[in-house]
Amino acid sequence: MTDPRSFIAGLPKAELHVHHVGSASPRIVAELAAHHPDSKVPTDPEALADYFTFTDFAHFIEVYLSVVDLVRTPEDVRLLTFEVARDMARQNIRYAELTVTPYSSTRRGIPEAGFMEAIEDARKAAEAELGVVLRWCFDIPGEAGLQAAEETARLAVEHRPEGLVSFGLGGPEIGVERPQFKPYFDRAIAEGLHSVPHAGETTGPQTVWDALISLRAERIGHGTSSVRDPRLLEHLAEHRIALEVCPTSNIATRAVTDIELHPIREMVAAGVLVTVNSDDPPMFGTDLNNEYAVAARLLELDERGIADLAKNAVEASFLDPAGKRRLAEEIDTYTANWLRAPGR
Ligand SMILES: [Zn+2]
Repeated sequence: MTDPRSFIAGLPKAELHVHHVGSASPRIVAELAAHHPDSKVPTDPEALADYFTFTDFAHFIEVYLSVVDLVRTPEDVRLLTFEVARDMARQNIRYAELTVTPYSSTRRGIPEAGFMEAIEDARKAAEAELGVVLRWCFDIPGEAGLQAAEETARLAVEHRPEGLVSFGLGGPEIGVERPQFKPYFDRAIAEGLHSVPHAGETTGPQTVWDALISLRAERIGHGTSSVRDPRLLEHLAEHRIALEVCPTSNIATRAVTDIELHPIREMVAAGVLVTVNSDDPPMFGTDLNNEYAVAARLLELDERGIADLAKNAVEASFLDPAGKRRLAEEIDTYTANWLRAPGR
């Protein structure tokens, strides 16, 4: 097929792995940095592009945390959240599970209730004004240790904002063993939240097993190294445990050395439910549409194949059954119309 970009641009999509602060576009970051002139984050977009060029995963975490530091008031939180939804609407993203790290904000002094109110307010406004349905995944910043885990579980359980659907674990994997977080995941799961930890991005397949067994993961963030363990791939395929694949992110953080060697092909060949996501899109110079284009090229997909990829995300989402049906139908209708009159 020809360049699939215009098909992808109009395709209704769901995104399952995208970080709240990591979605701040240079424009939003510049705006926040201007509000907080003591920050070391540059305020002009060109200098920001340089600033966002990472040397390795540790450097990425460092830059990411400096942007986290710009979100200091409930008003910052609301602005960031709504503007992120605006960028999603421009890409025809209809539904997104946004990974939020409330610990990073509350420990910087944002009042808990103010934080929850800000994200919920932005969520409702995004749905009403932009047609983007947002849900939250509260994630533990792994680098901050067990105290952060305890606090994140407490914030999730005590506040339980209406949009909250899942519980996650992010940050570095090396030296941050998954099983130690079991009690916090147990608590969140007991409260009805879904388990979606990152695993197997910068470490081997054992981390994915740990996430499945200790944290009862229902989807895996990245899971890139799963392809090194055929038994694991089989298990993921058999239990329809989706992998949240973020191709450009994997290159930016050097989790994968070369996009041509990205393991997404092996995952699909093994029958694993693969979803395509953008992770921290502006920081990686990408967006969800670009990630779909990358995946379509690597997997040699035509329009129907790309639409199936979009439907994988709907299937693996935590939307209610009626919501899933509606979004899947929207994808089918769009695709059928496109194939009848390409480029419409
Ligand atoms: Zn992530």
